[in-house]
Amino acid sequence: MQTAAIIGAGFSGLSAATHLAHQGIAVTVYEKNSLPGGRARKFEAEGFTFDMGPSWYWMPDVFEKYFNTFGKTCSEYYSLQRLDPSYRVYFGKKDYLDIPAGIEALCKLFEELEPGAGASLIKFLEEGKYKYEIGMQDLVYKPGLSVSELINTKLLTGVFKLHVFQSISIYIRKFFKEPRIIKLLEFPVLFLGATPDNTPALYSLMNYADMSLGTWYPMGGMYKIIEGMQKLAEEKGVQFKFNTAIDKLEMNGGRIKSIHSANQLFNPDFVIASADYHHIEQQLLPTPFRQYNESYWDSRVLAPSSLIFYIGLIKKLTTLLHHTLFFDEDFSLHAKEIYKDPRWPASPQFYVSCASQTDSGIAPPGHENMMILIPVAPALHDDEPIREKYFNLVIDRLENLTGESVRPYIVYKRSYAHNDFIADYHAFKGNAYGLANTIWQTANLKPSIVNKKVTNLFYTGQLTVPGPGVPPSIISGGVTARQAMKSMRERL
Ligand SMILES: Cc1cc2nc3c(=O)[nH]c(=O)nc-3n(C[C@H](O)[C@H](O)[C@H](O)COP(=O)(O)OP(=O)(O)OC[C@H]3O[C@@H](n4cnc5c(N)ncnc54)[C@H](O)[C@@H]3O)c2cc1C
Repeated sequence: MQTAAIIGAGFSGLSAATHLAHQGIAVTVYEKNSLPGGRARKFEAEGFTFDMGPSWYWMPDVFEKYFNTFGKTCSEYYSLQRLDPSYRVYFGKKDYLDIPAGIEALCKLFEELEPGAGASLIKFLEEGKYKYEIGMQDLVYKPGLSVSELINTKLLTGVFKLHVFQSISIYIRKFFKEPRIIKLLEFPVLFLGATPDNTPALYSLMNYADMSLGTWYPMGGMYKIIEGMQKLAEEKGVQFKFNTAIDKLEMNGGRIKSIHSANQLFNPDFVIASADYHHIEQQLLPTPFRQYNESYWDSRVLAPSSLIFYIGLIKKLTTLLHHTLFFDEDFSLHAKEIYKDPRWPASPQFYVSCASQTDSGIAPPGHENMMILIPVAPALHDDEPIREKYFNLVIDRLENLTGESVRPYIVYKRSYAHNDFIADYHAFKGNAYGLANTIWQTANLKPSIVNKKVTNLFYTGQLTVPGPGVPPSIISGGVTARQAMKSMRERL
């Protein structure tokens, strides 16, 4: 029986481990933290249960397909609820839109905002559906190793309909003029870690995911997905070693001989690194075996980092939904402060997750569980006074825009930013979401899932194909596991 080591128990590591174990490989997952989940971990404090990272459950078909691969369904592991409204967006003081779950209601809303926009939305989403079907059922499952992967009839005949060479910003404006509609449709691009003018219109597939496939929530919290994936992995025989940070990869010629953690040593036949790519290459792998150098990494466009506040309130809120976005400030300046001229933003847009609006089990009775997230540039100086300044700034804005008092009701508060991402996950420059999905960092142009200098080392996760986000990370684990098995079989 071949043995494999997976470094990291985030979504990609859990997925890779389960795919390998399903094929009869003896798999051990080594995780530096005390529990699985990586950026999607949870913590409990004073009766609240906080999801630390992802809060949006989009693309339910990807999760279902994952569990189906192993003869299971999502519902065997967690129970999903569709949110309606999907989310709320504030554009100014007490000026907000609720985004309904059904297409008919959405068209009605668009029509009210801009005459003709209802019919345009149908057309826009039809084109998004086409892209979703090609993108999410085909392209994202490619290992990104050769251009020939992209040459197939479906792709070639459809290349113009995929709008790969046009920015989504221009594309959206061909359909709509109303500024609030444009803000709404540009929002899902934030998940890709890039700006709308730097993102191919192919990604209007995200609008289809948002508006047609819907926003869902696993009751109990996003961590239920991790628990389900861990349980499934264990059912397949995967072993987990927590509190086990791998600190050295020992080489024998062009292959990994052993992996080290403190004073322990393990000898797998092959390794899948699901921890941050940069950490594995630059900190664990000896220099001659690295595929990319520091200047390569410095030239990459990273997705943003985040300043996050986990807050417990002794109050039920009436002006926030489960998901509320605050788009009252101009995003172009905020985007500039993330990508072009990295600095702490003057007037950032921000997002609040208040999952206890849907799920009373994650807060004590009569309390609210809130996560406030401000996207910020990676590699910023991060300290307590800066965090506190932004805490006051967003609470003031939140109270002013909603007209609802929040500050006096705070009974729990914890902040999280760059220094925590680095300490907890070895995150390059404290990134939250990996590499941005810009035109020049898509598919084959991402860091490769194989190491051409090391025959038994492979990579998965949000810094390689297909990219950042929970669904792509789950897919990434499967893509890399298949590639690793293929390469190892060829070597036998
Ligand atoms: C705040 C935030 C909000 C987000 N919101 C959403 C959302 O709403 N929807 C969505 O789809 N996506 C969202 N994302 C993105 C999504 O969470 C990530 O893309 C995904 O979880 C990444 O999974 P991964 O397996 O690639 O990496 P990670 O989750 O980072 O997993 C890597 C693991 O490797 C471990 N590790 C690191 N170094 C070592 C070592 N030397 N030895 C052993 N283990 C090691 C780490 O501890 C970690 O557990 C969000 C991310 C963040 C941070």
